Amino acid sequence: MPFLLYNSQTRKKEIFTPLVPGKVSMYVCGVTVYDDCHLGHARSALTFDIIRRYLEFSGYEVRYVRNFTDIDDKIINRAEKDGIAWDEISERYIQNFYRDMGALSITKPHEEPRATEHMPDILRMVEGLVNKGTAYQLEGDVYFSVKKFPGYGQLSGKNLEELQAGARVEVDTRKQDPMDFALWKASKPGEPAWDSPWGRGRPGWHIECSAMSVAALGPTFDIHGGGKDLIFPHHENEIAQSCAYTGKEFARYWVHNGFVTVDKEKMSKSLGNFFTIREILEKSPIPKSEAAIGECLRYYLLSTHYRSDLNFSEKSIPEAKVAMENIYGLIQRLEEDDSRESNQADEDFGQVLKEFTKKFHESMDDDFNTPKTLAAIHEFRGGINKLLFKGLSDQMRKTIIDSLRKYGKPLGLFQLTVLQWNAIVMRPSPAIISLMAPPVKVVVESSNEDQWIEGQIRLRNEARAKKDFSTADQIRKELADQGIILEDRPDGTTRWKR
Ligand SMILES: [Zn+2]
Repeated sequence: MPFLLYNSQTRKKEIFTPLVPGKVSMYVCGVTVYDDCHLGHARSALTFDIIRRYLEFSGYEVRYVRNFTDIDDKIINRAEKDGIAWDEISERYIQNFYRDMGALSITKPHEEPRATEHMPDILRMVEGLVNKGTAYQLEGDVYFSVKKFPGYGQLSGKNLEELQAGARVEVDTRKQDPMDFALWKASKPGEPAWDSPWGRGRPGWHIECSAMSVAALGPTFDIHGGGKDLIFPHHENEIAQSCAYTGKEFARYWVHNGFVTVDKEKMSKSLGNFFTIREILEKSPIPKSEAAIGECLRYYLLSTHYRSDLNFSEKSIPEAKVAMENIYGLIQRLEEDDSRESNQADEDFGQVLKEFTKKFHESMDDDFNTPKTLAAIHEFRGGINKLLFKGLSDQMRKTIIDSLRKYGKPLGLFQLTVLQWNAIVMRPSPAIISLMAPPVKVVVESSNEDQWIEGQIRLRNEARAKKDFSTADQIRKELADQGIILEDRPDGTTRWKR
C-alpha cells in the first residue's frame, strides 16, 4: 500500500516518494531556547519523532535534522532580565529541553545545528543573495526583496497583496516593500555580534534554517516540518531565501502539526495559558514516575491526529493512563496468569494478529493517523482477551507480548516492563507483592506502609544485584519523592528514614 503524506504546500495527501529511494531527509524547526518547553513544543517534537520512528520501522533510512535557535531577541531579553550572559541562557534551556524531551522518550535527531555555530554558512547565503540582487543592504541591515522572488506566497497559497493585507507589518519606510524581511541585523551596542561585510551584527531568524538545512541536507530534501504557526512568515521566507540562493527546489513535502489548545485557545507563552512539560510531569496525580507519565503523555498527544488541534484539560493525562493501564494490564496477565494454560486458541491468534498488523499499517500509512492506530491496538487487546478465555500456550503468550512491544515501539508506547510501570504507582502489582519474600502477604494500606517501603528496598536491591541500575535508581527516586531517604550501609544492607 502506498504511503500517504499530507503536503501543506499542495494542501492534499500525496503518495510519498523520497528523492533517493529508501532514504528520507527531514529538517524540522526546533525551539528558541529562552524558557522551558510547554506542551505545544512537546507536540511538535513528538509529531516528528513519530514520523521518524515509523519511517524507520517501515525500512527507510532517515536523516533527521532539527535546529536550536540559540540567538534571538527573546534570548537577549531573558538574559537581561536574569542578569546573566545570553549564551548561558541558551545553554541552560537546551539542557532543559533534553531533560524534558528525554522524559517523553523523544529520540534525538541525527544532527542538531545551532545558529551560532553556523555563521559562515549563514553569511555565505546572505552574501550570495546580495550578489544576486535578491537582497539589499540598508545601513547595517540586509533585507530580502520579496518582489524579486516570483514564487513568494506559494506555501501560504496567497499572493503578495493578500499576504500584506493579512500581516501586521511594522512600518519601515526605508524598506523597498513592507513585506521585505531581515536577513541580517546590525547589533545594538552591548548585544552579541558577529563580523560581516555589512558591519557587526547577527542573523535574522528565517535565514538560519535555510542555511543550516541546506548545509546539512543539500539544496533539495524530502520533508520540512514545524508547527502550523510557522507556515507564514517563517517557512514562506525560508522557501524564498533558499530557492533564490540555490536556484533549486527546496523541501519537497511540507508537514505542519496543529496546536495544543486550552479552552479553544492556542497554548502559547505570549497568551500565558501554557503548561510546561515539567509542570505536567511533576504535578500530575498519577502515576508517579517520569517514564510512566512520559508514556501517558505520549498516548494523550497521539490520541488526536497530528494536523488537528488538540485540547488539553485536567482529565487528559488520567484518561490516557486508564487506556495505557489496559495494555500493561494485558501484558501483566500474559506474563503471570497461566491458570488457563492450553493451546486451544493458538490457531485463532494468527488471524487476530494478521488483522491487527493490517490495520496498524493502513492507519499509519495514511498520513500517520495515530488515533486510528490506537483504536486498532485496543481492538487487538479485545481480541486477545477473548482468546485468553479459550486458552493460549506459553509460546503464544510470549508472541503476543512481543507484538505489543514491537508495534508500540514506533509510537514510543508499551516499552516499560510491568515492574517499571507498576512499581512506580503506590499500588504494587501481584508480581511485586510476590517478589516481596520472605512470605509476607502485603496489602498496601497506610498502616503497613513500612512493609511496602521494605518491599521497595528489596526490589531495589534485587535490581542492583542484576545490575539493572535504572530500575534501582527509579525506585530510590520514587521513595525520595515520598520523603523516604535510603542509606546504603557498608555491610550491604539498606536503612531508610523519613
Ligand atoms: Zn526554522
